[in-house]
Amino acid sequence: MSNETIVKLKAFELRVLGKAMPDQCTCTLKICQGWESVPDARWPADQMQAAGTLRQELPEGQMELTFEEFHPNGTRYDSPNAPIAVDYFPYNRCDVFKCNACQCAVLKYTEFGGYYVDTRARLVDPEMIVARSAEA
Ligand SMILES: [Zn+2]
Repeated sequence: MSNETIVKLKAFELRVLGKAMPDQCTCTLKICQGWESVPDARWPADQMQAAGTLRQELPEGQMELTFEEFHPNGTRYDSPNAPIAVDYFPYNRCDVFKCNACQCAVLKYTEFGGYYVDTRARLVDPEMIVARSAEA
């Protein structure tokens, strides 16, 4: 899939996509209430449908998307109750999938470490989504 065909989703579109709550997930991704490592072998590709991306265009003069996280209530990166802050890391690097089996929306991104590549996934709870801009 080329970049041109990927739909850039805004926060409100993500809310609409995530109709089913994470606790209704019945497939292998139900462990992903917060960010979890999901090796390709465990990613249920057959039932996942690409829905778009949260990746933003880089603002003029900025070298890379922010690695800043957003935790106003003292949550951690992998907390199940951490906000899905679409303007912050790692949500600003996520692609969005829809599960055909349980109707959950799933966020996925790939972390590139020095010696490893790690795919992580998190189910979308629409109530956890926060966005900086009002029209999002
Ligand atoms: Zn599912």
